[in-house]
Amino acid sequence: MEPIKSWRVGITGGIGTGKTTVCQLFEILGIPVYDADYWAKWLIGHDPTLKAGITALLGADAYLPDGSYNRPWVAQQVFSDPAQLQALNHLVHPAVEKHSAAWSQEMTEKGAPYTLKEAALMIESGNHRKMDLLILVTAPEELRIQRVIQRDGITPEQVRARINAQMPEAEKIPFAHFIIQNDGAHSLVKQVWEINQQILQKIFG
Ligand code: ATP
Repeated sequence: MEPIKSWRVGITGGIGTGKTTVCQLFEILGIPVYDADYWAKWLIGHDPTLKAGITALLGADAYLPDGSYNRPWVAQQVFSDPAQLQALNHLVHPAVEKHSAAWSQEMTEKGAPYTLKEAALMIESGNHRKMDLLILVTAPEELRIQRVIQRDGITPEQVRARINAQMPEAEKIPFAHFIIQNDGAHSLVKQVWEINQQILQKIFG
């Protein structure tokens, strides 16, 4: 028997735009959400092929004697060396993509109408091309800064540095099938409800 098609919807947006908050609303509507950041960390710690790739790239010091990931050491190696960071991402992103595709298939077989994959760097990694549809969450920069200061207890300068290290929002817009404005003026619940309806319409007609 042919496997049923799993519909995969990506959800992305810059730091503090509200991706996680939006995903919580989709979850309330019964849509399973794959958190790419969480699973990237898990796979780095548990996936034997990925662990072997990282060790081959960075050396045995990437993992501690007990097999756990030596994140601070790796961060030190890669953040001053963009080529190394890129090489590391080229190992991690495909591993996450493969895992999330299998997860999506499993969720679909269990009855989910479609699944969401939440990733901050979805467009940067090129993995938006693996999605059937893409949702972009946007918010005014000042609001993003305020929200992240409040959530993470960091300074406005630290938030600005993180925003500036990401792809500008305006460049992400052409890739999106749906845009959510999380600006405090437009209802998030209404936008999520309407997008869910439109996605279901596309899938089931
Ligand atoms: P990151 O990329 O850093 O993971 P994110 O895009 O997932 O961020 P969230 O964590 O969902 O963003 O939101 C950032 C903070 O702003 C959170 O503390 C969240 O509760 C708050 N927030 C998000 N949207 C709203 C909103 N519409 N009204 C009030 N607070 C909000």
